[in-house]
Amino acid sequence: MNFKNKDTYFSDLLAGRGRPLVIAGPCSAESEQQVMETAEALKKLNVHLFRAGIWKPRSRPNTFEGIGLLGLEWLGRVKRELGMRVTTEVATGRHVEEALKQGIDVLWIGARTTVNPFAVQEIADALRGVQVPVMVKNPVNPDLALWIGAIERIYQSGITDLAAIHRGFSSYQPSKYRNLPVWQIPIELKAHFQGLPVIVDPSHIGGTRELIHPLSQRALDMGYDGVMIETHPNPAEALSDPEQQVTPAALAEILDKLQVRKTNY
Ligand code: PEP
Ligand code: MN
Repeated sequence: MNFKNKDTYFSDLLAGRGRPLVIAGPCSAESEQQVMETAEALKKLNVHLFRAGIWKPRSRPNTFEGIGLLGLEWLGRVKRELGMRVTTEVATGRHVEEALKQGIDVLWIGARTTVNPFAVQEIADALRGVQVPVMVKNPVNPDLALWIGAIERIYQSGITDLAAIHRGFSSYQPSKYRNLPVWQIPIELKAHFQGLPVIVDPSHIGGTRELIHPLSQRALDMGYDGVMIETHPNPAEALSDPEQQVTPAALAEILDKLQVRKTNY
């Protein structure tokens, strides 16, 4: 599998607008107003792809587990009224079918799904015969083979328009990071899949707003293609991941400060 010199959705976006590809939006779609307000602000920042989770894989029950199908309609509105492209997380075959029915432009597979080959295979089966770009997050544990295997399963279903998202790896050791970056793993992934676009998710690696800029800069310096940054109009009140989301104004500052330098990676 070689992704070099392939015409893909991601290479097309990058060719048109240049590195980094910017994906932003709330951790979770919470209300129609929150989704529309965030998307309107992000459109002004030239964000390439609007993200919002509607099925949320929360660690504990009795927390907000996502708005569900209703959120797909809100994403449809972002698409129609603002002309932005939209992406959401899918974790089951049914999620894939529902998201495609609503015309979601790009799907992503979350870290808690990538760990499970049965779940990834179910998604791959639902994608057979469909053409949609898919982004695959690393598994929660630092297991390169599991990440490679998930990408292979999706590829074998006929999806060649793929990207990887590095969101860090969980650890029980105390750390300033919510999820340890272990930069060596995505380096090896990039070496394995030549030309595969790799996007950093500094929100889930860092777990705090302060770490988003340094982690994004580090990834860009290592040749990453894009960033995925959680953005919320009122982060402190967010129903999921309140410590790591930034306002659209803070995102604008982060993006302004980012420097795209030549890399040797
Ligand atoms: C998310 O992007 O909101 C999410 C649930 O991420 P991850 O799968 O990386 O934990
Ligand atoms: Mn999140």
